Amino acid sequence: MEIMAMKCPNCSGDINYAPGQRVVKCPYCDSTLNIDTAGVMAEAELQRERAQHADIQVERDNYLKKVKKWHLIKKIYYGVIAAATGTAYLLDKFVRDGLGTPIVVVLLMSMVACPIWLNGKVPDAPLSVENGFKLKRGFGTTAKLFVMTLLSILGGLLLAVIIEEIFE
Ligand SMILES: [Zn+2]
Repeated sequence: MEIMAMKCPNCSGDINYAPGQRVVKCPYCDSTLNIDTAGVMAEAELQRERAQHADIQVERDNYLKKVKKWHLIKKIYYGVIAAATGTAYLLDKFVRDGLGTPIVVVLLMSMVACPIWLNGKVPDAPLSVENGFKLKRGFGTTAKLFVMTLLSILGGLLLAVIIEEIFE
């Protein structure tokens, strides 16, 4: 048999009752209670909302983790670009002219491919996340990634020139 549960409004004791039952006596304080259908419904609704809230929290946390991971991959990418640029420059200067060329070719290819790839990797935001907190995918993000790639190349070049100045 299905058992319904409610809290006694008088003593907060747990009361079990059968569905459809209209009147119940609290086993703790002996209050006779009319089962307010609306009240029971409200309690069920509240529980449903609580469960939903917990789900939303998990959803948000997961999204936040994905966003953090995306930012980390992006930073590693900028670092690799800067390091590759510096290495290409220094190889040309100190080892042999033209040795850095293959790296430059790969750099030029990744300059176009990586911003597009990273933009595609922007995680999908769940509906429960407000617009202001969403990581946006699209032309704006791709353009920003491209500009940051150029800045990373300049940064790597600058670093290589400084190293060159020191060791020359
Ligand atoms: Zn009671």
